[in-house]
Amino acid sequence: MRTSQSYDVTVVGGGLGGLTAALSLRQKGIRVTVLEQADELGEVGAGIQTAPNASRILTGLGLRARLEAIHTEPQDQVRRRWEDGSVIALTPLGDHCKRTYNAPYWHYHRADLHRVLLDACLDPDGPGPVVRVRTGSRIVDVDRTDPARPTAVTATGERHEADVLIGADGIRSAVRDVLGFPDTLVFSGEMAYRALVPGDKIAADPATRWLVDRFQSTIWYGPDRHLVHYLIRGGEYLNVVAIVPCTEEVAERWSAPATADELVDAFPGWDDRVAAVLSKAEGDASAWAMYYRRRDPVWVDGHVALLGDACHAMLPYQAQGASQAMEDAAVLAEELGSVPVSDVAGALARYVARRAKHAGMVQEASLRNKDFYHLPDGPEQRARDAGLRDFTGESDVSYDWLWRGTPLNDPDAESFSYPFHR
Ligand SMILES: Cc1cc2nc3c(=O)[nH]c(=O)nc-3n(C[C@H](O)[C@H](O)[C@H](O)COP(=O)(O)OP(=O)(O)OC[C@H]3O[C@@H](n4cnc5c(N)ncnc54)[C@H](O)[C@@H]3O)c2cc1C
Repeated sequence: MRTSQSYDVTVVGGGLGGLTAALSLRQKGIRVTVLEQADELGEVGAGIQTAPNASRILTGLGLRARLEAIHTEPQDQVRRRWEDGSVIALTPLGDHCKRTYNAPYWHYHRADLHRVLLDACLDPDGPGPVVRVRTGSRIVDVDRTDPARPTAVTATGERHEADVLIGADGIRSAVRDVLGFPDTLVFSGEMAYRALVPGDKIAADPATRWLVDRFQSTIWYGPDRHLVHYLIRGGEYLNVVAIVPCTEEVAERWSAPATADELVDAFPGWDDRVAAVLSKAEGDASAWAMYYRRRDPVWVDGHVALLGDACHAMLPYQAQGASQAMEDAAVLAEELGSVPVSDVAGALARYVARRAKHAGMVQEASLRNKDFYHLPDGPEQRARDAGLRDFTGESDVSYDWLWRGTPLNDPDAESFSYPFHR
């Protein structure tokens, strides 16, 4: 009988979810091949946040030193009102997260985080078998003639057989389609502008200088739209995500280039400081139509399972999509790493049982934030803001629950802890 040491797992998709899964499985002694459709692995030029539930998994994978080299740490999360920028609520991050959750709340450039994961997958000195990464490999089919050896088939006819196949191929997952799972994709009617603003321009303007004086994660709430920004690469850039009603053009094309002027025009009547920030955007600002998946607990069929956006794509209104994929990866590796090959179907079923309800709750909470964030001025909005002042979370999903994450089995759970020195 082959033991877990001799497993072969194919991961379809080399995004943040797929690479975290590959690294987690590698560290359990499993042989992993990542098949990525793009000719080059990488991420979009934008920022990303990992709350303690995800940072704990990344540091538990031995990445702490590498992440400390690329992270930026916000001291608080601040919520502001659209019209005058007045502070609705302030949530401590920084040391508070490390002290309370044994894990940090960090910001990064996506490309940096992706690179750290890829390097760790390929590190010849890392624990477990080095991950094989095949780019230019677009999966169009999964042959399950032998259900115990699912075979990923690429557009050019190459075949990759393994004991387990994980579809980590994003919101428009081909693996999901091949499995015949329900079409759960929904258009939210909104789009996200993503832009990077050079930190030196922010620091040079007295109207925006306050943003570099104390590093914060900021959310501006307004009717029909909201704005998120935070510094990355130690202040080299301010990452901006601006959510507004979707134009017809972007809805049709999924994404389209945008200018700083368009960004400014998208926030008419807002506090002057918003225009002062947005007008400084440089490079490839772009608008992305926002889709999500309806909650669906079916993620597995025999030796094939889904992970990340492929099974629980959510609106980014809790900044949790990739973080939930990282939780998937940790649980998947615990389950697959503890069984012989004869029990992989059971291990995958247990993975879904431990993760689907949790991720589904985050998916639904993120969707509820669409209305919650965008309330028009009036009594409902005032009640929301009063509630936010006693903040424990944005919805019935508290930050305390969210940031503790899915409980892990690992008896060596201490290795996930983040020593905090006063
Ligand atoms: C504006 C915005 C802000 C966000 N901010 C945050 C945040 O701060 N924190 C957070 O945790 N999450 C955030 N998210 C969510 C996060 O970006 C996603 O949930 C996450 O990137 C999903 O990772 P994934 O690996 O599941 O999928 P993806 O990143 O989509 O990766 C899928 C990979 O599979 C490849 N692929 C697709 N089809 C095939 C195929 N047929 N064959 C082979 N390869 C294929 C793709 O090329 C891609 O590389 C945000 C999302 C948005 C839109």
